[in-house]
Amino acid sequence: MLEEIKNIDKKYYMNTFGDRLPVCFERGDGIKLYADDGRIFYDFLGGIAVNSLGHSHPKFIERLKEQLDKLIHTSSLYYIENQAKLAQKLSESTCADKVFFANSGAEANEGAFKLAKIYFHKQNKDKYEIITLDKSFHGRTLATVAATGQPKYQKPYKPLTPGFIQVPPNDFLAVESAITDKTAAIMIELIQGESGVHLMDRDYVKKLRKLCDEKGIVLIFDEVQTGMGRTGYLFAHQMYGVEPDIFTAAKALGGGIPIGALCAKDWIASAFEPGDHGTTFGGNPFATAAGLAVFDIYEEESLVQNAKYMGEYFKRKLFDIKAKHDSVTDVRCAGLLIGIEVNTNISKDVFNALFNKGFLTSLCGGNTIRIAPPLIISEKDIDMFAEELDIILTEREKQ
Ligand SMILES: *Cc1c(COP(=O)(O)O)cnc(C)c1O
Repeated sequence: MLEEIKNIDKKYYMNTFGDRLPVCFERGDGIKLYADDGRIFYDFLGGIAVNSLGHSHPKFIERLKEQLDKLIHTSSLYYIENQAKLAQKLSESTCADKVFFANSGAEANEGAFKLAKIYFHKQNKDKYEIITLDKSFHGRTLATVAATGQPKYQKPYKPLTPGFIQVPPNDFLAVESAITDKTAAIMIELIQGESGVHLMDRDYVKKLRKLCDEKGIVLIFDEVQTGMGRTGYLFAHQMYGVEPDIFTAAKALGGGIPIGALCAKDWIASAFEPGDHGTTFGGNPFATAAGLAVFDIYEEESLVQNAKYMGEYFKRKLFDIKAKHDSVTDVRCAGLLIGIEVNTNISKDVFNALFNKGFLTSLCGGNTIRIAPPLIISEKDIDMFAEELDIILTEREKQ
């Protein structure tokens, strides 16, 4: 079966993903994924921080089915109950006043750039530059690639969308000296996920907030990966105690159904007036029903608290492993967003060994094993992973 699918994929699907991991999943249940050949995997990546409820959560599926029976799409020409109510949920549980729904993280970020730009445009101010960070990841559209501070993503697509400037992360002076009279916004990930789980210092983030206030610059947090409970807080900016002017969300927001959100304070959100921005699919009745179900299940099952507790538990286990194994060079954690940095000469091998033992993770930033499991994870699951990682590292260190 896998061979057949591989052949069809090779023939008909654009080769943007190269050789994928040799598995094709048929169904899921909680943190377990079942391959079409009978193999069982434990999902410690959660579809890259998407499947926070785990797979096939019964209540979630029930809510989706209910909505499917009623309505999928109507267009933004009409009022949409779920859209209004999900916007209310996001606003009431964060510092945002207003929300706009898109279909992905990149698209939500595009909306953030547009909102920052139009805000100044409407005051007849010539401010359009957006400062972002090296090693960041903001998406795959042209403007988000220009914002993404990784040459490998930018190089083939030059000339890039103008106006984006990158500076090193956690370097306040670098940001300060990059500011010009054209600077409209600073956009950062509080925790850089894609490049290996790198946390911004609290002091740095607080200073950015102050700088933006003083200079009249819009502060944007890309919370596409860090949002929706991942860090043990609904949004990572709540962990930092710093409010952005705009933040974006996506990944876990729809529990696997595509949805992105642009969230902003009133003073800047009001720069969008009728006709200034739009979408066909964004915030449709089905996607926003998924978002509402995600919020309800988070509350019923205290999943944000669970993420915090399990994140601490995982961290302790991984620090024990780090103490025991010299090949583990760093462990970086924020709730259930975890990076285990392993000696570069064995990191790929450790990642593959985990996969072969049935543990799904991702290798990012070259030598970091990223873990972003469903928020429903239990101590037992974590023990199982830690035991296996310990064994794998012991074997590698003997060689
Ligand atoms: C995944 C991700 C994106 C892109 O989201 P898509 O839904 O793939 O467009 C943007 N920013 C961050 C921080 C991400 O992790």
